[in-house]
Amino acid sequence: MKREVRFAEIAVVGGGPAGLCAALEAARAGARVVLLDRQDHLGGQLIKQTHRFFGSKSHRASQRGFKIAEALTREVASHPAVEVHTGATVFGFYEDGVLGVEQKGRVFYLKPARVIVATGAAERTLAFPNNDLPGIYGAGAVQTLVNVYGILPGRRVLMVGAGNIGVIVSYQLLQAGMEVAAIVEAAPVIGAYWVHAAKVRRAGVPIYTSHTIKEAYGKREVEGAVIWQLDGDGKPIPGTEKDLAVDTICLSVGLSPLIELLAQAGCRLAYVPELGGHVPLRDENLQTTVPGVYVAGDAAGVEEASAAMMEGALAGLHAAYSLGYGQQDYEARRAAIREQLEALRSGPVGEKIRRGLSKAIIQL
Ligand SMILES: Cc1cc2nc3c(=O)[nH]c(=O)nc-3n(C[C@H](O)[C@H](O)[C@H](O)COP(=O)(O)OP(=O)(O)OC[C@H]3O[C@@H](n4cnc5c(N)ncnc54)[C@H](O)[C@@H]3O)c2cc1C
Repeated sequence: MKREVRFAEIAVVGGGPAGLCAALEAARAGARVVLLDRQDHLGGQLIKQTHRFFGSKSHRASQRGFKIAEALTREVASHPAVEVHTGATVFGFYEDGVLGVEQKGRVFYLKPARVIVATGAAERTLAFPNNDLPGIYGAGAVQTLVNVYGILPGRRVLMVGAGNIGVIVSYQLLQAGMEVAAIVEAAPVIGAYWVHAAKVRRAGVPIYTSHTIKEAYGKREVEGAVIWQLDGDGKPIPGTEKDLAVDTICLSVGLSPLIELLAQAGCRLAYVPELGGHVPLRDENLQTTVPGVYVAGDAAGVEEASAAMMEGALAGLHAAYSLGYGQQDYEARRAAIREQLEALRSGPVGEKIRRGLSKAIIQL
């Protein structure tokens, strides 16, 4: 069957903070952009984040995530060079550079001169007995239920994972009226920013480090969970079990970059644990090993929204520049974005990311 293929200058796949900033930057440089997101709205993860962000003013610090999403969405929607498609899932990236898109029951094909993949990341899960009982969720899913749809998943929750997401979602569940029985963390230290961990501790929630979930139990749905302690080698210590009566278990055990489209496109991938798993190799401008294909945001390595926005801007700027747009301001703008990215990744907090990037960034 003959496919009808539409041409485009730049296609951005994913309308989270990375994709929104990529589209805006490329459009401001003068390029025409098609922005595609499978959700019915733009903003990605940001739309469910009710807490204030960290960082400096240029990174929109102290604004709440959903407010940042609203502002970026307004800017994109009002830019004449950006064509927005929501409810549009990119399901294939073919060898001839064509993207297959399904939108509300209709399929169309796009052949962009440049593609920026900003598809974000997926939640990981954990293997333990009865982990398929109703009442067990990923933390991101719970955050969507509570903050977007106003639905509480239960009354009393065990949170597994004390990284930023586990601790922030625990606090938001407390605010929404749930009881948090405990947070367990397999590592010997809390991974979350201290300011968030201190807030949940002040609310009386115990955080058990070097602990994990042993099993969930319940006849038709979760009725409780057993947790136990881990030794220095990460092995469970029999006899340390604690039984918690909960009706909800929330897993916050990390994210993996969504790189399927990049793999289909033939981009070279590498396993970089510091960035969350398999990521595409790319140069300093986020261009992958397939010329004209860029990556940005959590798909390039799980980090934070502030870094995702800057990476999106850098990829958008370079994609436009490579098509002949924004030649005059390019160097100055590129230097400014790179400076902001470096500031975000400086100091001990950025150490892990810097280590990961040293393995993922190559000279093309
Ligand atoms: C609870 C929580 C708290 C956080 N707090 C902070 C914080 O305080 N500060 C901070 O900087 N960061 C924070 N983050 C991290 C931040 O949300 C992410 O790093 C950021 O959203 C990543 O942006 P992104 O654009 O790469 O991906 P996403 O925001 O995940 O957006 C990806 C988009 O791509 C779309 N998509 C995916 N696949 C396809 C496809 N095939 N076709 C079409 N569309 C597709 C998705 O629908 C989505 O809209 C937090 C995250 C969570 C979960």
